[in-house]
Amino acid sequence: MIIDLPQNSQNEVVLINNSMKIENGILKLYFPINFQENMYELTYFMKGKEKCFYCSRTFPKDKITLDHLVPQDFGGPTIPNNLLPACKRCNSEKTNMLKPFYDRYLSLSTNGEKSQFLSDFQQISRFLHRWYGLVFIQDWLEEKEIENIIVNISLDSSYRGKKYKKIKEYYKQYGHLQKPLILDRRNFLLDGFTALMFAKDNGIKKVPVIVLENVEVIF
Ligand SMILES: [Zn+2]
Repeated sequence: MIIDLPQNSQNEVVLINNSMKIENGILKLYFPINFQENMYELTYFMKGKEKCFYCSRTFPKDKITLDHLVPQDFGGPTIPNNLLPACKRCNSEKTNMLKPFYDRYLSLSTNGEKSQFLSDFQQISRFLHRWYGLVFIQDWLEEKEIENIIVNISLDSSYRGKKYKKIKEYYKQYGHLQKPLILDRRNFLLDGFTALMFAKDNGIKKVPVIVLENVEVIF
């Protein structure tokens, strides 16, 4: 898939900050990368840091956060296409709701209705995780053999911490990975190291990935 880049970046070099630039329409990330941080910076660069997408109010710069349109809970990746500036109140109110559910939630008037809705949503959410997996981002997904994914650090046991345990528990409960791995155009791993390690440990040969065709790590 192609990630959203600033409109003027097709034919000129755009320096975003010290860790990334855009050249010939390709976003270049300098190694070592902090992928999530890079994507947050890029999104603020493109979509601003003033206006909340949900309530349309304007805020001082440090009061704006970034919301995942498709929640991370449902595999929503941290890339500009899936990030929207949101005030802290709207972001925390939306929590892990998908947009149509959040719209419905906002239309309810009493606290009683709202708390009933939230508890119903948790039920539905378990059902969606079980039977629909990563359906909300399926247009961006591919499957890849893990041996074709390039990593530059060795997979060692020091990484089997809390995050690893969470991946394991989700997999046990729902039978698939919660989030896709993110790769650059040459299949270099940008995000999802722990999930890759989990897959290797458990003999999972193919994993869901999002390949960013216009992103490249440079060394
Ligand atoms: Zn808001």
